[in-house]
Amino acid sequence: MSPASTFSNSEPSVCCTGQAFAGVCDDLHAEYSRNGDHYCVLHYPSEDKGEQFRQVLDEKLRDTHSIDLRGIWVPIEFSSYFRDHAFSVEANFSGATFRGLADFYGTEFSSVSFRNATFCGEASFSSRFRGDTVFDHAIFCEVSKFRDAEFFCGEVFFVGTDFCKEASFAKTKFTRNVNFSRATFCENVLFDGTEFHGDVDFQQVAFVSQALFHGTAHNQVFCAEKRINFRNVEIDDPSQISFHTVTLRSAWFVDVNPREFNFTDVNWYRLRSWR
Ligand SMILES: [Zn+2]
Repeated sequence: MSPASTFSNSEPSVCCTGQAFAGVCDDLHAEYSRNGDHYCVLHYPSEDKGEQFRQVLDEKLRDTHSIDLRGIWVPIEFSSYFRDHAFSVEANFSGATFRGLADFYGTEFSSVSFRNATFCGEASFSSRFRGDTVFDHAIFCEVSKFRDAEFFCGEVFFVGTDFCKEASFAKTKFTRNVNFSRATFCENVLFDGTEFHGDVDFQQVAFVSQALFHGTAHNQVFCAEKRINFRNVEIDDPSQISFHTVTLRSAWFVDVNPREFNFTDVNWYRLRSWR
């Protein structure tokens, strides 16, 4: 009996997802099929690929140059597989699908991209990010938690990101610039005890529900010397936007009508020459 008898065609099958992410799975056989499409084990959209998926994933995670996981389909069973993992090199999860909980609690990242990733379950990113971090056009279908996350060194991008449920940036620390432009917050978003040490761009962000910026006497959320941009922000109900114990500059609200926002104990910063 021929050892190749399990594969009916002599033509080697090509992973249909891998074609969009050249190089990720070139060395893997596209041995799974669904609706006429062939997939490698990394990209096969199925819960039923446990041990083989683990072996290939582990091999990827051992790469000492960069970890290329573009487009992978992560089963529920692997929800906490990256928890507490230390990524010492750049990791790329662009276009990945996390079918269950995306549990990155305690994970240490170098540069990382989750561009166009889909988080089907709750996402927990109480992680440390030590390089450029990209969540552009990612979709958080359930609650997303960045509580206590720390973003060091690199810039952070949430451009066009969809937060479909509640999002929490409580006590999140952004050391450098962060860009939320064109992101959509469909439900409440909490910036409670958040530290923004660089520029923050909220241009064209849609706040559909409540947005709360809440500081303390020692942390007034924003840095007065930096540039915070609320230009063309889209707000369904202005009374749902609250600023409590924060530093603000009126210049940050160009093209916005903040009359119905809630301002409590706001420290309105003025240029020194005006005093
Ligand atoms: Zn593939």
